[in-house]
Amino acid sequence: MDEMDRSLGTPFHTVEADASEVLAGLGVPLIVAANDPPWTRLAGRLRGAADVASTVPAWDMEVDHLRRVADGVADALDHDRLHRAVVVGVGGGTALDTAKFLAWTLGRPLVQVPSITSVDAGFTDAIGVRDCGRVRYIGTVRPEQVVIDLALVRSAPAHLNRAGIGDVLSCHTGLYDWELASSRGRGHPWDAPLAALGTALLDELDAAAADIGAVTDDGIRFLVDAYRRVGAACAAAGHSRFEEGSEHFFAYAYEHRTGAHPVHGEIIAFAVCAMAHLQGNDPQRPFDIVRRAGTRAHPHDLGISHDDFAATVRALAAYARAEALDVSFVDDRAISDEQIEAAWSFVSDLPRMP
Ligand SMILES: [Zn+2]
Repeated sequence: MDEMDRSLGTPFHTVEADASEVLAGLGVPLIVAANDPPWTRLAGRLRGAADVASTVPAWDMEVDHLRRVADGVADALDHDRLHRAVVVGVGGGTALDTAKFLAWTLGRPLVQVPSITSVDAGFTDAIGVRDCGRVRYIGTVRPEQVVIDLALVRSAPAHLNRAGIGDVLSCHTGLYDWELASSRGRGHPWDAPLAALGTALLDELDAAAADIGAVTDDGIRFLVDAYRRVGAACAAAGHSRFEEGSEHFFAYAYEHRTGAHPVHGEIIAFAVCAMAHLQGNDPQRPFDIVRRAGTRAHPHDLGISHDDFAATVRALAAYARAEALDVSFVDDRAISDEQIEAAWSFVSDLPRMP
């Protein structure tokens, strides 16, 4: 491994396989944290071939709830079975994050089976929970393997898979903000290999957009591979500046203001187009990628009103300061009402995907 690889971290071990065969082949008791769908579908394919010792429905990420669940699992299994068990996450973000928490708390190995490509939780080592509603990171865990079951992923609603572009597209605005902040000597210093990864991912996303739109195997493979590389690089760098900037801050501020929670990759795709326009940073590029990938990002399809958009942008610098977020272009320049209207008009031309 050369120096450049080392600075970008070691991606999780990923296998492309039939998840039911992998789980049956483990030959140990399984503690499954799952969303349903897809759990019933996958369990049907197992047909009793795996030793499912415990099934935990994943939905509530409050830490008190998760602790009760972990205690319940530990009480239900006898000592010997618990100490041979593997924790398996099956589904989207809540399932994969619940599985991380259980593996970490119970001290057992982890296997992740992400069923949609709209979340990166299968490829990040941070264990995120909610504490009275606020996201808190309490530790890290690496899965033994991440199983990509293409048929399972394809069975998810297409718009959730197309939302997978969000956390890759965010490199477009994230890199701009990072370069600006680091040139002012603020926050994490510029790191050329990390920045080059962000640039390469954007070029590859551009090339893969049509495959993602059609939810082909190659489209799914690209998103999975992108998340692996992003996850490894963020873990190695200890920050995610190359792929998280004002577009994420807009989403957090909007969700805080309205209490709404659009699909993460969809609001990020919207916000990249809007923030790129406000940055004066080639907004047509993310716009065209969103259009070719068929990602739902039109404000009306996400329930984002003109007034909430304008108010969120106007308050963004104050919100970022209050939440101690990284420096971005909103800290560097005032945004006029004319610029906000121009950005709104630009994103209103995104294709409708009701
Ligand atoms: Zn994100």
